Order: sequence, then C-alpha cells, then structure tokens
Amino acid sequence: MSESASVDNFPKPTSITGGCLCGSIRYQVDFPKDHDFLKASGSCQCTQCRRNTGALIFVAHTAPLNGFKYLTSTETLKKYYATPGIQRAFCTNCGSFLYWRDESSDGIDIAVGCVDPEFLSEFGFALANSSGHNVWCENEIKGVTDHFLNKERGIKWSQNSGSAKM
Ligand SMILES: [Zn+2]
Ligand SMILES: [Zn+2]
Repeated sequence: MSESASVDNFPKPTSITGGCLCGSIRYQVDFPKDHDFLKASGSCQCTQCRRNTGALIFVAHTAPLNGFKYLTSTETLKKYYATPGIQRAFCTNCGSFLYWRDESSDGIDIAVGCVDPEFLSEFGFALANSSGHNVWCENEIKGVTDHFLNKERGIKWSQNSGSAKM
C-alpha cells in the first residue's frame, strides 16, 4: 500500500444531504462510525454511466443503504435499468442522476455531484478521493480522464472486475 493510501487525516462527515436540481427529491445519508471513506470512494467510466450522467466520469460514493433516507416525496423519482437488477435513479422533472444501486447489495452508490455544495466544499475529499474502486478504466480518454485519478491511490480496474491496471 502506498503511503498516501493510508493517509486518513481529512474531515469526515457523519451525515450529508443532497438532492436533484429542481429540489423535488432530497435525501440524507448517515454514515456509520466505522465508515471507510477511502474504500467507499470510487468512479466509473463505463458507457452506461457516461450516457446516464452526461459526465465522462461518474464519481460515486458507496453508502450503506440503511443509512440512506428520503427527506421529500419520491413522486418524480424513476429507476431505469440498463442492466437487470441495477437501479439507475433519476428525477423525471429535472433529469438529475441521483444514484446507482445493485439490488443484490446492501449499499447505494450516491452520485457525488448531487451532494449539497456545503458538504462538497467541507467534505469533498472524504466523498470523492477515488481511493476505492475505479472501474471501466479501459474507457479512459487520453489526456482528459486518464489524469483524473491519483495514481498513488485506489485501484484501477480495466473493466468492472478482473486484474488491476494502473
Ligand atoms: Zn428534480
Ligand atoms: Zn458504470
């Protein structure tokens, strides 16, 4: 393990809020005391996530599902399945992509871009340090997204599993 991967002296939130662009859907995430902010922070560059988010890199933070709750109604929430069993949730009013979730897991991959700005400015590193799993890196765009991840941290997978590729 590299030295920076063990660095753990950054501000960590106990709870965050976020929501979609139009405000119809608001949520809160409470993190357990032992939440690993390094391991839970990752990204995906697969074509599904790119098309879904409109961003070249989907920056995700995996939270325990039992710490996630809605603060509003979910009337405008829709789940799209590009792959069976994998939820891609978005607001049908404004289009914000909120999370990715494997229904067989007990986690939820929050789209970090929809976390409220005050939490991003205070806890951005905790939420988006990319020290966890960074997948589908074979889709990296030279000179653009291949410089995004700190090569001293995290694991780059060429696809969603298999051999690590740095
Ligand atoms: Zn919305
Ligand atoms: Zn993806």
